[in-house]
Order: sequence, then C-alpha cells, then structure tokens
Amino acid sequence: MRVFSGALATETNTFGPMPTGIASFHERAYFHAGEHPDAMQMHSGPLWAARTIGRKRGWTLIEGMVAAAVPNGLITRHAYETLRNELLDDLRRSLPVDIVLLGLHGAMVADGYDDCEGDLLERIREIVGVQTVIGATLDSHTHLSERMTQNADMLIWWKEYPHTDILERAIELVELCAEIREGRVRPRAAVADTGMIVQLHTTRSPARDFVARATELEGRPDVLSVSIVHGFAWGDTPDMGTKVVVYTDENLDRDGETGRKLARALASDLWDAREQFDVTLTGIEAALHIASVTPGTVVLADGADNAGGGASSDSTYLLRALFARGLRDACVGPLWDAGAVRLAFDAGAGARLPLRIGGKIGPLSGDPIDAVWTVRALKSDMVMTGLAGTPAKLGDCALIESAGVEVVLTSIRCQAFGLDLFTQLGCDPSTRRYVVLKSSQHFYAAYAPIASRVIYVTAPGVNAHDLSTLPYHKIARPKWPLDR
Ligand SMILES: [Zn+2]
Repeated sequence: MRVFSGALATETNTFGPMPTGIASFHERAYFHAGEHPDAMQMHSGPLWAARTIGRKRGWTLIEGMVAAAVPNGLITRHAYETLRNELLDDLRRSLPVDIVLLGLHGAMVADGYDDCEGDLLERIREIVGVQTVIGATLDSHTHLSERMTQNADMLIWWKEYPHTDILERAIELVELCAEIREGRVRPRAAVADTGMIVQLHTTRSPARDFVARATELEGRPDVLSVSIVHGFAWGDTPDMGTKVVVYTDENLDRDGETGRKLARALASDLWDAREQFDVTLTGIEAALHIASVTPGTVVLADGADNAGGGASSDSTYLLRALFARGLRDACVGPLWDAGAVRLAFDAGAGARLPLRIGGKIGPLSGDPIDAVWTVRALKSDMVMTGLAGTPAKLGDCALIESAGVEVVLTSIRCQAFGLDLFTQLGCDPSTRRYVVLKSSQHFYAAYAPIASRVIYVTAPGVNAHDLSTLPYHKIARPKWPLDR
C-alpha cells in the first residue's frame, strides 16, 4: 500500500484585522516534504497515525508538506497558492498512491478562494483519479461545502471542543481509508444543514449528549462515521453554518436513505436544542465582581480576543479593569506584544521599567496600558503544550508584573492552551486568585481542573460574541440566530 500524507490548515477570520501570509505558517508549523518532526502537530494527526499504523502493516508512507498557521485574517492569494501548489507538487512526485490522507481545517478562506479545502480536494482528485482513496480529518469549525464531500471519500471531523481527540479521529480516518481501499466498505456521505450557527461546547450538555449520540451511531454496522460540523461564525462564506455529516456503507445502505434519515434527525434535534447551546456570557464588571466574591482560583476567559479565532490577542479591556478595581494576585496571558517583549529582554530579568503594552493592532484592541513593570522572568523560543499534547509556539516571552498583576507577553500570537504558558515563567496559575486567558474554549481542558469557577467574559474584540454586529455579505440566509 502506497500512502501519501500532508496538511494545510488554518482558520480564517474574514473580519480579522491582519492578513495571513506565509510568515504566519512559518511561525506555527511549516515542514517541507520529508521534514516532519518526531512529534504530532495539531493538524498532522493523519500523517502521525499513518506512520504508526503503516509501520505495522508494511505500508510505504510518503510524507508531503505539513503547514499550519494560527488563525488570522484573510489568507493572501500568494500564500494560499504557494502552499497549495507545494502540497500538490509533493503529491505528483509520489504517484501512484492508493490513499491520500490530509490534515485540514475546513475554514480556510483566501483572497479569491471562499472554499480553500474544496479547491484543494478537487485538485487532488484531478491528480490521483477516482481509484485513489482521499480522506481528511478536519477541525469542527469548518465551512462544509458540497465540493468537499464530492471530492473526498471520507471526511472526519474532531468531535470534541476543546479539540482533544485529534489523534483518535486520525486513527479512525486511517483505518477507514484502508478498509475503503481494500474494498471492504463503500462510503456514501449524507449532509444535513441545520440552518443555524451555534457554538457547541462539548464539555457540557446538551452538546455533550450529541457527541455521545454520534459515537453510539458509529457502532451500527451500516454507519461508518458521524460528524457534527459546528461551523465558524467569523467566516463570511456561502457555506458557513452548523451541519451534520453521516457516512454509511453503500453495501448496507444501497439508496443512501438510512444516511439521509440519520443526518436529518440529528440536524433536527440540534435545531430543537438551539437555545440550550448558548454559553452564559458575563460583562467585564459583573465578571470581576463575581470573581472577587468567589473563593479560590477564578478563570476568566476573554473569548472575544482569542488568537485561536483570528483576534489580535493584544486587547487591554480586562487588564485595565483588573487595575481599576485594584485586584491583585492575578495573572493574564498570553498578550501578544513583540515590541514590549523586546524591551523586556533588553532590560533583563529583575529590571523595573515603564512599559506600554497591548492595544496596538486595531480599534478593538482598546488603548495600550502604560505602567511601571518589573520583569519577573524571560524565556526565549517558548513552546506551550497545546491540544492533545501538540506543541504551540509562543516565541520569546516575558513575565512582567505591576501592582500584583502578572502578564505573559509573547512574541508569537497564540491562544491559551496549557498551564505551562505561566509555569515555564515561574508563575503557578493554580495559586493565583484571578487567571485571565485569551481563549474561547480550548483553555478549558487544562484550566478547568484548577478553577473554582470559570467565567466566560464578553468584552469588545475581533471575536465578538454578538454575531449581529458582524457585516456578513456572503453567508446563506436565513440563519439562526441572525434571523429569528
Ligand atoms: Zn476549532
């Protein structure tokens, strides 16, 4: 069996203030063919699983390019076409292949390309022909298009949010694609659109129950895979929305009626539960008040400034409010400010200096904060533990402190994943009263266990929770909750 694997992934916030260029991929993960390191990356699950499984079965694995960027604004045409063409060239050089396994995101949008994954899969199909099995794992925050399901044999989305099941889904993909290639199953996709866009935090009901139901359905002999595609509200593309995908085995579901029925039933039940998925959001002042009267470590998530959703991660609203209330024993991170990091490095650990931090990228970043800070710790090329143990680069980092508030400044933009965002700099968040994180939900996997309470805060930001404020032009309407 000859297997080709590669990845091209990022999530595009089409309303984001900054473009995604090639440098954004270099910052996160960009490995040319044959250069993938000996550690799974967030979007290289399929390659990683194929290495492990292929070794046991004597497969020939050809490793193509793996490139992924931290979510950001529209991808430049040059960046997308350059990376796409590199991956396609790698594939051409590897022919013939029995299986193509890809790590994709699903919400990549480039200048001139509303549906990057559809474009990529279509070109791959043109290159390999219909006999080769094409499979991919994708992030649940996908804009699912018909072009994608038409040009792939098997698409499997991560089920969990936080995305902790990267490796499990990749193993499923590799196993299923092998079965398809061996002629043991014949996949047929059924897609149902729910007509809405919702955030599904699978850490709690009812979203949790839908994950359980999808997993249970996969136990049926005629069902190969069931995915709930959450969708990504900050991407203005025609395919944006929450959808359900059911793959049945055509040998057991000849006319595809079972698949369609199951997909429709799940979509309809998601619709019925739509009001219950809402995350309780609390304004800044109320959140800090609740935190101040709650004992223990309170985690406050600033999802509107989540780098993982394409925000700048340098907004100052919560930080300013902490100072205004005189709340001490607080840590905040990661705040993206490469200039301030540079100054902190020049000053050196232990130095005390006036420093202007944050509030630089755009109006939604708020005003910068001027204070006198003490440089508590510095670390070059810091890497945080990301989802499923994958590495998340932060670049050079500084822990600075003023009036009992510690801030982790980073030179690479990234959201909060692991506790080692702080602990590597000598700050233990589990001993702090207030932990303010730039993240919507991925923080939850590592930080919920140390929190007496988690508060989802609503603040101004590029990932503003009130979708009615977003200037959509391309999405299909009507769509709940925009249209009620
Ligand atoms: Zn996601």
